[in-house]
Amino acid sequence: HRLSKRREEAMKVASRLSASMAHEIRNPLTTIKGFMQLYKEMKIVPESQLTVINKELEQMEKIINDYVFLAQQKGMKQSETIEINDYVQAFMKKDEIKALTQDNPVAFSCSENFYFNGYKEELDLLFLNLVENAVDASEKTSTIEIRVTSEQSQLCVQIIDKGVGISPNRLYLLGQPFFSSKEKGTGLGLMICHKIAELHGGRMEIKTKAGAGTIVHIYLPLKISPIVEEKVTRIEPLQALK
Ligand code: ADP
Ligand code: MG
Repeated sequence: HRLSKRREEAMKVASRLSASMAHEIRNPLTTIKGFMQLYKEMKIVPESQLTVINKELEQMEKIINDYVFLAQQKGMKQSETIEINDYVQAFMKKDEIKALTQDNPVAFSCSENFYFNGYKEELDLLFLNLVENAVDASEKTSTIEIRVTSEQSQLCVQIIDKGVGISPNRLYLLGQPFFSSKEKGTGLGLMICHKIAELHGGRMEIKTKAGAGTIVHIYLPLKISPIVEEKVTRIEPLQALK
């Protein structure tokens, strides 16, 4: 409980910083990108330099997007019914994910069809962050596993890697804003994941062992499947007869 309280406080600080950051930096970034496109067309900047500049701009944009996402207040967006099997399959087919996992095979298993109320855009961000972390922690060719089961009437998605893991004395750093062991990390990914799990009425848990790997559990509330729902509606008139 104390941990979640601390995380809440940290979230508030990050949120306030993010809101101003976003406005201050997003606009000039857009301007620079516009000019870079122009220079590319005019061929006045060497291609190799353009590549570097664009990569750096992309990195800046990634950081800004992380901040903006964390600063966002809960919207009034409508959730949709999602079947996890379909969702993960579609997610894996995205070009961005294929590129990300080109060196690490992803093994996906799903014990049955599970439905839940979800927000696709946010789910994409959640899985992107977790798969990215798993890839970063893993050696090339090491398999990453996505395993879907249900646990105590909750949907449980595990993202499993056999990567570097985290030593116990650094475990408390996980999910704290700005903690990153990576040269180009924002240290905001896991916070974003926490936020998205909570947005879905679920939660995230991390089990890790230094040198052995990491399992991230995402628990989401299950929704009664459409087929079952249909049956329920059909028996209603009978109940009314009583
Ligand atoms: P970033 O990826 O930008 O560093 P994150 O919030 O996603 O930020 O992760 C924070 C840190 O937690 C990472 O830098 C890494 O040290 C550690 N971490 C996260 N996921 C894993 C994982 N699957 N295996 C090992 N370490 C991890
Ligand atoms: Mg990350």
